[in-house]
Amino acid sequence: MKAWSILLAASCLLNLDARGAELRLGTAAVPINPPPGIGLAGYYHARGNEGVLDDILAKATVLDDGQTRAAIVVCDLISMPKWIVSEARRLAQERTGIPGANIMIGATHTHTAPVLFREWSRDETDGGGEQLSKDYSGTLPKLIVEAVVSANEKLQPVRISVAKETENRLANNRRFWMRDGSVGWNPGKLNAQIVRPAGPIDPEVGVFFAETSGAKPVPVLTFVNYAMHPDTTGGTRISADFPGALSRALALYKGPDMLTMFANGTCGNINHTDVHWAGAQSSPREAARLGTILAAAVFKAYPRLQSLINTGVLRVRSEIVKLPLPPYTPEQLEQARLDVRTARDNTRAGFMKLVRAHRVLDTAAREGNPQEVEMQVIALGQDVAWVAWPGEIFVELGLSVKAGSPFAHTYNVALANGTIGYIPNKSAYPEGNYEVESARVAEGSGEMLVTSALRMLAELHREADASSTPRR
Ligand SMILES: [Zn+2]
Repeated sequence: MKAWSILLAASCLLNLDARGAELRLGTAAVPINPPPGIGLAGYYHARGNEGVLDDILAKATVLDDGQTRAAIVVCDLISMPKWIVSEARRLAQERTGIPGANIMIGATHTHTAPVLFREWSRDETDGGGEQLSKDYSGTLPKLIVEAVVSANEKLQPVRISVAKETENRLANNRRFWMRDGSVGWNPGKLNAQIVRPAGPIDPEVGVFFAETSGAKPVPVLTFVNYAMHPDTTGGTRISADFPGALSRALALYKGPDMLTMFANGTCGNINHTDVHWAGAQSSPREAARLGTILAAAVFKAYPRLQSLINTGVLRVRSEIVKLPLPPYTPEQLEQARLDVRTARDNTRAGFMKLVRAHRVLDTAAREGNPQEVEMQVIALGQDVAWVAWPGEIFVELGLSVKAGSPFAHTYNVALANGTIGYIPNKSAYPEGNYEVESARVAEGSGEMLVTSALRMLAELHREADASSTPRR
């Protein structure tokens, strides 16, 4: 038997990469339930919490190709403030040796999670600036690091397989062309003024699966990527929303020891509301319904998983991108100061006033300095890449990156490595409405992030090509 055929046979069993190293992977989850009293996130007013409906978790996956280690963390939280990321990376590097720059930390965007301290003007109105919230937010870096440390301790040889499923009857674009020519935002169920959605959804359900590489494989991880706002559960109890229901459904089939990690895609303008259905669409039951539909897509994907015979080399790259600020006038700043004190979000007009006011105040606080955000890509061989985005990204931008990515399986991980709020695509700016009113960056910023992501993806893929050349 020739040397190369021995190598090939061995790599089929062990997921060897081009250098002959085997891929190891470990997972862990740590509860991050808040103490009673701390409010819930995601709205412009303070909301109490009356206990835990289902656990929220910090979930970590560590990958090791023998030379490079990287970690992907997703927390059941509304967002991931940059200061939490920086502290968690520093501590995780200290405890595990994984370079902080190789760690991606995101949030699912569940709206039934505790309000966090973000160093935003909204901290004063939604409870993020209260001592309880500051204290809780201060515990998160250590809890995230616990998950990374534990996943790192559980590294073991794995076989990787991937699949894509399509689910186009679950998510909806929440912006609509209206009969008067405007673009409506969440215009309400059965609204006769709706003409059609103003943009697409991303129907792709990305599935990345790891199992132990022994004779009797044991499931280790199902990573699921789909773009949709988790604001379904409602009420005043802590919940992971539909990603929690997804995890419970997959555990019924694969067992409780497998980690289901859900990373939200570019869901800035995507939610679950079906405007053609008059039925109630906000409750724990509704979250269970959505999680079950998403789980069904994964169940359909399992039999069609394609094994990555040669997982290849693990590579990480990131760039700081400076995004221009949206313009404002001195009069608008005066008005904003007045509106945050007087406006209330119980009418559409009052809500929009608050949204605009907080955008102007946060923009003014930057004193002309651009928003500095991080774009990061973790790539595995020639087939798989995770792209971290620092906010709530319009779906059009994520679709552009998937369309231009040389990696067949490209996962958009939104609200990762920091969050600056909504990032609409260029054409949404003149259309206006909620997300545009809220955006802390000027028109064209989203496209700058697309350019950055595609540049890094292309570079990493070229390097993967080079490293896969057989050794002589
Ligand atoms: Zn949101």
